Amino acid sequence: MSEPLLLIEQIGAVRRIWFNREGARNAQSMRMLDELDDALVEAQKDEAVHVVILAGKGPHFSSGHDLKEGQADRAAFTVEERWDYEEKRYYDYCMRMWDFPKPIIAQVQGGCIAGGFMVANMCDLIVASEDAFFADPVVQTLAGAAVEILIHPWVLGLRKAKEMLFAGTPVGAEEAREMGMVNRVVPLDQLEAETLALAERISKASPFILRMLKKSLNRTYDAQGFRVSLSAHFDTHQLSHKTEAFKEATQSGLDGAISRGRSNVTSS
Ligand code: ZN
Repeated sequence: MSEPLLLIEQIGAVRRIWFNREGARNAQSMRMLDELDDALVEAQKDEAVHVVILAGKGPHFSSGHDLKEGQADRAAFTVEERWDYEEKRYYDYCMRMWDFPKPIIAQVQGGCIAGGFMVANMCDLIVASEDAFFADPVVQTLAGAAVEILIHPWVLGLRKAKEMLFAGTPVGAEEAREMGMVNRVVPLDQLEAETLALAERISKASPFILRMLKKSLNRTYDAQGFRVSLSAHFDTHQLSHKTEAFKEATQSGLDGAISRGRSNVTSS
């Protein structure tokens, strides 16, 4: 039996979901994302769950989408096939997290890269350890127009988002906190306890009030064009998959992209 891709725990009113692919730095395979969506549907239905924590086993939260699996299974996708695949797994799953009727807290240590960055930022709050860093290097590594969900300017501000994306520059935990993307930065050995304590505190509030308030807070972004911008970017992102630059990067440079991603993860 292979290891489960997710580990799921219930602690009081808190449902904690762990990415459990430490050996692959919690790279998000198709099955892992499907299981995460299923786990969230389950957590949504279960009245005993007031708050969800999303965490990663091992030294890194997540290195992003599983590029090796993508190259093996989806490199020959037509525009139509890729569109459907990415709309369901990357766009719709993310928006379901954004619209999830209960608070979700991301517990982030080490690398939080590309697809990992996208998923962590769909959460309502982020608690990070001092060693955490956030990056979306795909412009540099894969000639992709950022990841599928352009959450970056909404959580970093436009100018920092441009720097992160154009140059592939990672943002450290403390800097991310100063910019308002991260709520709290704590020592690594306290990350789990501090995140749980915050979740437990939130879980004492009325679930209905939290649900209404989250909806109301998220509408302040909708009023500024949040959904329209994300949906437009998804189209732009799909276009980038069909460029010559992307083809070249994936055909000749995937190994390089993966090792560059890995060196980002280990050296920053
Ligand atoms: Zn894509």
